[in-house]
Amino acid sequence: MPYRAVFRCLAGCPGDHALDQPIYRCPSCGQLLEVAHDLDALCDRTASAWMALFDDRDRPHGTIHGSSVWSKREWVCPAVRDECIVTMREGGTPLVKLDRLGAEFGVPDLWIKQCGFTHTGSFKDLGMTVLVSVVRQMIADGRRVRAVACASSGDTSASLAAYAAAAGIPALVILPRGRVSTAQLLQPLANGALVLSLDTDFDGCMAIVQRLVEAEGVYLANSMNSLRLEGQKTVAVEIVQQLGWTVPDVVVIPGGNLGNVSALGAGFDLMVALGLIDTRPRLIVAQAAAANPLYLAYQNGWRYRSVTARPTLASAIQIGAPVSVQKAIRVLQRYQGCVEQATEEELSHAAARADRCGMFTCPHTGVALAALSTLVARGEIGRHARVVVVSTANGLKFPEFKQRYHESTLGFPTPLASRPLELPNDLDAVRRALDGLTRGESPAPPPRG
Ligand SMILES: *Cc1c(COP(=O)(O)O)cnc(C)c1O
Ligand SMILES: [Zn+2]
Repeated sequence: MPYRAVFRCLAGCPGDHALDQPIYRCPSCGQLLEVAHDLDALCDRTASAWMALFDDRDRPHGTIHGSSVWSKREWVCPAVRDECIVTMREGGTPLVKLDRLGAEFGVPDLWIKQCGFTHTGSFKDLGMTVLVSVVRQMIADGRRVRAVACASSGDTSASLAAYAAAAGIPALVILPRGRVSTAQLLQPLANGALVLSLDTDFDGCMAIVQRLVEAEGVYLANSMNSLRLEGQKTVAVEIVQQLGWTVPDVVVIPGGNLGNVSALGAGFDLMVALGLIDTRPRLIVAQAAAANPLYLAYQNGWRYRSVTARPTLASAIQIGAPVSVQKAIRVLQRYQGCVEQATEEELSHAAARADRCGMFTCPHTGVALAALSTLVARGEIGRHARVVVVSTANGLKFPEFKQRYHESTLGFPTPLASRPLELPNDLDAVRRALDGLTRGESPAPPPRG
């Protein structure tokens, strides 16, 4: 069965554009494009046949290249040939339920989708495997691509650099100087990308890369390019699949450029269209209060205006002019959407509370958990709801965040800060410390200051 997908204008202008064209906006009206799949063709399999196929391919050793993005290839990017696929076994990340975490946040049926358990440590790999595979096929078909390029708040560049290096394609990444973590800066350097560190914020980097793409023959790898969202939407399928093909009540996701929530919605839409599910979850976007244009739009009847984003510990979502805002608003309107925000103190505290339950939470996941906490306290999320929080990155990428929290140098109280207890080489001193731990005293001395 020849499955087919094309780019179409989000605003509905007529005309299809091939997925291997370097095109990111509608030539008639300038709106973003989205990938439209031929649903009639996809209906050649029943819902249960699709579920059985994905379950079968997602068995250990049963998958196409072991990737849970490509195990759903008919839904993602059907025209990519096997030999062009660039994969590092993305997707298939754990969906975990931690009882103490659920109790801590007041929703016992709380699940964390660990999207940071992946090759470069963030969900960006789900989309990048698709984008770089399409570029490799373009090159194989004789098109000239000088380089792939992106502006990044840290995780997109790490992912692009890794997949481009795996494919042998030159990569250019543009970062806002001083606003990504050390690990995030080291990743593209190690992978041999050309790394430009510009004296501006993410929105400034994005403006420059768009100009480059227009004039210089480089291929754009930001999520403005809908190919990435086709890979990212598989996270919705994975969540439902991991819950035994059932739909959670609520999904909470941190949002910056707002591609990921758009992708999540697209994934649920496709499952509804093909009859795999018949209900939709409520989708909730969590933003940092320092970079909250979608939150303000939500408060204002979905009337959107960009803002100047202020620095936030959740550096990957320090974005004031999100490229995919219109897609995101459409999705949220279909999914009883809601937007909540979190201050720096709230996101840090939520991350620390989760860590005390066994997590190692990145600041963006901290934003999502803080929003969850707020919405549960306000009664907007019921205590019996089945809630999935999308953890977007691995906390190990953000050691500075943890260090500043536990050294209590963030400029606000950090009640769960913990420090090593420095002792002489003496068994009695160690015994006394152990006694303190088992008496339920804090495992570390109270923070200074
Ligand atoms: C990119 C990113 C986000 C935001 O995703 P958008 O699609 O830009 O909304 C959130 N968290 C982390 C860790 C990210 O890298
Ligand atoms: Zn258009």
